[in-house]
Amino acid sequence: MQELLERKKGLRRSILIVDDEFVEREVLGAMLCDLYEVKYAENGVTALDIIRRDKLKLSLVILDLHMPELDGYGLLKVIRSDSELRRIPVIVLTAEKEAEVKSLSLGAADFITKPYEAPDVIRARVGHSIELAEGSIIIHETERDDLTGLFNKEFFVEYGKRICAQNENMSMDAIVLDINRFHMINELYGRDYGDKVLKVIGNSLHEIVRQSGGLACRSGTNSFAMYIPHSTALRENLDRYVEKLGQDFGERRVSVRIGVYCDDGSVTDMERRLDCASLACHKLRNSYSTCYDFYNADLHTRELHEERLISGIDRALEENQFRVFYQPKYSIRGDKPVLSSAEALVRWFHPEFGTVSPGEFISLFESNGLIQKLDRFVWNRAASQIREWKDRYGVYIPVSVNVSRVDVFDPEICKVLTGIAEKNGLPCEKLMLEVTESAYTDNALQIIDTVSALRSFGFKIEMDDFGCGYSSLNMLTSMPIDALKLDMKFIRNICTNPKDYRLVGIIIDIARLLEVPVIAEGVETREQMELLKAIDCDIIQGYYFSKPLPAEEFEKLITAEVC
Ligand code: C2E
Ligand code: CA
Ligand code: CA
Repeated sequence: MQELLERKKGLRRSILIVDDEFVEREVLGAMLCDLYEVKYAENGVTALDIIRRDKLKLSLVILDLHMPELDGYGLLKVIRSDSELRRIPVIVLTAEKEAEVKSLSLGAADFITKPYEAPDVIRARVGHSIELAEGSIIIHETERDDLTGLFNKEFFVEYGKRICAQNENMSMDAIVLDINRFHMINELYGRDYGDKVLKVIGNSLHEIVRQSGGLACRSGTNSFAMYIPHSTALRENLDRYVEKLGQDFGERRVSVRIGVYCDDGSVTDMERRLDCASLACHKLRNSYSTCYDFYNADLHTRELHEERLISGIDRALEENQFRVFYQPKYSIRGDKPVLSSAEALVRWFHPEFGTVSPGEFISLFESNGLIQKLDRFVWNRAASQIREWKDRYGVYIPVSVNVSRVDVFDPEICKVLTGIAEKNGLPCEKLMLEVTESAYTDNALQIIDTVSALRSFGFKIEMDDFGCGYSSLNMLTSMPIDALKLDMKFIRNICTNPKDYRLVGIIIDIARLLEVPVIAEGVETREQMELLKAIDCDIIQGYYFSKPLPAEEFEKLITAEVC
C-alpha cells in the first residue's frame, strides 16, 4: 500500500480553491501551484459544477466558508452527502474558531485559518489531507473484490476474527457457496454473463448480511463465504434463498452448492467453522442442481474414513488389495448376442473395511490426484489380462479401462499407455479408453488434444456416461470419439417412461450421425435388452448378461463363446 502511495506521489494532483475574494485565491494558489495543478472557482455554484465534472480527477477542495449564493457550509454538505463526491477531502478556510468545529462536524478534513499561516504549514495540511483520503480509498479497494464489492478472503477472516474476539459468546454460522461448473458458464454464455452471475450472487449476499449482520466475502473465482449470527431459521432461509436464485437465473443453467456450518457449539474457531462449511460444500461437488448441506459429525467421521483410505493406497497397491474385475459387453446386432469386449472395473478388498466400492474411493482419489497411480495399476492389469487371454484362447478380448478426468492432464499419458500396450505386445486398439462425458465439457480443449493424440496411436475412445455431461450437438461433432456409452439412468426407466425411451432413440440417432456405435450399460432385464435391440442399439453391458467378474470367472464366458 505504501508503495502505491509512493507511486502516486509522482503524479501531479488537481486541487480546487473556492473563494469569492480574488486576492485570497491567488495568494493561496501561489503557495500550492508548484506542487499541484490548481483550479479556481469564485463561488459555490461554479465550484459544484467543476467538482461534478472533475470528480475523478480532483484530489482536494479548499473552501472558503463565506461566499454569496451557495456558501461553504452548503457546498460541504452537498459533497459529503453525494456518494460519488464523498471521497474528495475538503479543507475549509476560516477566520473564526466556532466555524472550525462546525465544519469539522460537517465532515471537513481540516481547516486553514485566515490570515494565512506560513506556506509550509499550509502545504503540509494539504498534503496530509490528500494522503489520508487516498490511504483510506486504497484500504477500501484492497479489502474488497472489485466486481462484487464483497470483502476478499483475507480481510473477511481478519474482520471475522475481530468480531469473534469482541463477542466471545456469540453464536455464528458459517456458509460457503460455490457456483457449479462456472468455467462452463463463461464458455457457453460469455465472460460478461459470467460476471453478471457473480454480481447477482454478490448482491444477494450483501442483502443477507445487511439484514442479518455479519460478513460476506468472495473467496475465490467462483466461491463465496459468509459468517453471520446464528439463526434458528437457517434451513427455511436457505430454501427461500435457493428458490430466489433459481428465479434470478431463469432458463440458463446456473446452479450453486452451499455448505453450512450451523453453530451447535461443537466448533468455536472461525476458520474451523469455515472449513466445516467448505467440507459440506465440497461433498456436493458432483451435483448439478442447486442444493445445500449441513456439516455434521457424520460428515466428520466420513472425512476421517476417507483420510484412512487415502493413507492406505500405497500399501494396498503393494499388497494387491486392489483387484480388477471384468464386465462383459455383448454385441446385439446379430440374431444371438456375441461377447465383444469387457470393461475393467477396480475393486478394493480392504483388510479392515472389507470390500470398498469404487463409488467410495474414485472421486476421492480424483480430488487429490492419487487416481493416476490407481489407474496405471488397472491399465497394466487389464493389458496383461488381454495378453493372457489371447495366449490362452487365441482371441483378443478387447478391454476398456476408465480414464479419469485427472489422467487427461497428465502430460505423460500417451507415453504411459503406449508403453503398457507395447510391454504386453498389444495393438493399441485392444485397450479401449472410457472417458466420461463431463470431462469433455469441463475442459473441452485439453481433452480434445489428449484424446486426439491417443487416437493417433490407435487407441479407441468411448465417451462414458453419455447424456449427463451437457455436450452440445455442436461440441459432439468436433469431439474425437469411437463409441458413445449411454448413461445407465436412461436405461433404468426405458420400459416404463416413454420420455426416456424416446431420448435413447434420439441419442442413438446422434450416434448414427457421428457414425459411432452405441453401448448401453446398466441393462438388467430382458425387456430392456429387447427394447434397445429394437431401436438399433449396438452393444449391451449390464447385470442382464453378467455382473463384473473376477478374471477366472470371466474366462468361463470366453470358453462358452470360443470353444
Ligand atoms: P462406470 O464406468 O459408469 O461403470 C459402470 C458401473 O455400473 C460399475 O460400477 C458397474 O459395476 C455398474 N453396473 C454395471 N452393470 C450394471 C447394472 O446392470 N445395474 C447397475 N445398477 N449397475 C451396473 P462400479 O464398478 O461400482 O464403478 C463405479 C464407477 O467407478 C465407474 O462407473 C467408474 O466411473 C468408476 N471406476 C471403476 N473402476 C475404475 C477405475 O479403474 N478407474 C477409474 N478412473 N474409475 C473407475
Ligand atoms: Ca466406465
Ligand atoms: Ca458409465
